[in-house]
Amino acid sequence: MKADLAVVGAGVIGLAVAWKAASAGYRVTVFDPVPARGGASWVAGGMLAPVAEAWPGEEAALELGEESLRRWPDFAAALREQGFDCGLSTNGTIVAAFDHADADQLDILARYLTGIGRRATLVTGRELRRTEPGLGSVRSGLLVPGDVFVDNRRLLRSLLSAARERGAEFVAEPAVSLTGDSVTTESGTRRFDAVVLSAGAHSGRLHPELATAVRPLKGEILRLRARRGTLPPPRHTVRAVVEGRPVYLVPRDDSSLVVGATQYEAGFDTGVRARGVRELLEAAERVFPSVAEYELIETTAGLRAGSDDNVPYLGPLRDGVYAATGHHRNGLLLAPVTADAVLAWLAGEAAPNGTEKARADRNTSEERVDAGVRQR
Ligand SMILES: Cc1cc2nc3c(=O)[nH]c(=O)nc-3n(C[C@H](O)[C@H](O)[C@H](O)COP(=O)(O)OP(=O)(O)OC[C@H]3O[C@@H](n4cnc5c(N)ncnc54)[C@H](O)[C@@H]3O)c2cc1C
Repeated sequence: MKADLAVVGAGVIGLAVAWKAASAGYRVTVFDPVPARGGASWVAGGMLAPVAEAWPGEEAALELGEESLRRWPDFAAALREQGFDCGLSTNGTIVAAFDHADADQLDILARYLTGIGRRATLVTGRELRRTEPGLGSVRSGLLVPGDVFVDNRRLLRSLLSAARERGAEFVAEPAVSLTGDSVTTESGTRRFDAVVLSAGAHSGRLHPELATAVRPLKGEILRLRARRGTLPPPRHTVRAVVEGRPVYLVPRDDSSLVVGATQYEAGFDTGVRARGVRELLEAAERVFPSVAEYELIETTAGLRAGSDDNVPYLGPLRDGVYAATGHHRNGLLLAPVTADAVLAWLAGEAAPNGTEKARADRNTSEERVDAGVRQR
């Protein structure tokens, strides 16, 4: 064994790190009272969509997202080789505009994306409906074939089992504090060679350097299922802004559909508001009218770990703790590149492209990226 590694938090980030590190021969101990199901990863939509999410001024997020998306096929293949399917779909993403203002926004996005050489095709409403016949009366659309999606819950179950199979030990207790070489729970303090902090929106509570950098951003999300006689869910992820309100529909292969998501600051509250459900349903019905006949099977809310610039915090903090947090709307997308970055730091190797702008100490460095938070 090369070294003892502690991972604090077992959402998609902690589990990806634990699995990769255990596979590479590290002795891994993971602390989490509710592994896999305790955070935003379980709640999320599962889009792996750096291009459809891109916006002028957020190039660092785009670069990192694309770097991770390139790593996704190998990441999924390695899980598959171990006998675990994570439900990675290669069906692309479409973005739909329903009124003049939405269509104008889409034009800006399309011009920006083609200007920076990304694959995105602007089409008429009629052409978009040919791709996805169940759509409502859409004005125009954008085809983004490279942006895909994953079944987040299947992925989490797979990562948990795969990490266990590779020898990772799971401790079902929260960390109350940590340092670069120790983790303390109510049962006592254990020593490690390295400690990774991946507690999502809770990371700021565990480390003073992240206390103001990482803040919880609540998101409500729905799960519905097609009933007998209704149209099946769309084949692609469908994103739209309906009267200024963003909504997305992500299909699952069991005829269910994930509809997300609201975004607002509410501290650590994860209660689902009736208003959030109503807004999402109204917008989803406009995008894909058959949703009105679907069965509503779940309403949930989760906490994104927000950062100021939509870029995560990756790398060593001053006391040596490795931060792997602040993934905001993109933790599923960024899991492969984050896990590879952790492995690279541990081995003293160069971290993947794109991670330098995500340095965990950038808030205190002169190179701070100041792109501002965009609500979507
Ligand atoms: C509604 C919604 C939709 C989203 N949709 C997408 C999407 O489509 N695509 C995408 O890429 N991203 C999406 N995201 C963002 C994504 O879910 C997050 O970026 C990602 O889940 C972050 O993963 P994580 O492992 O860092 O944190 P989490 O999944 O939040 O996991 C943190 C873990 O830490 C544990 N923990 C907390 N405190 C402690 C402690 N003291 N000790 C030990 N463990 C602790 C928790 O139990 C939890 O298991 C969405 C988020 C939300 C809320």
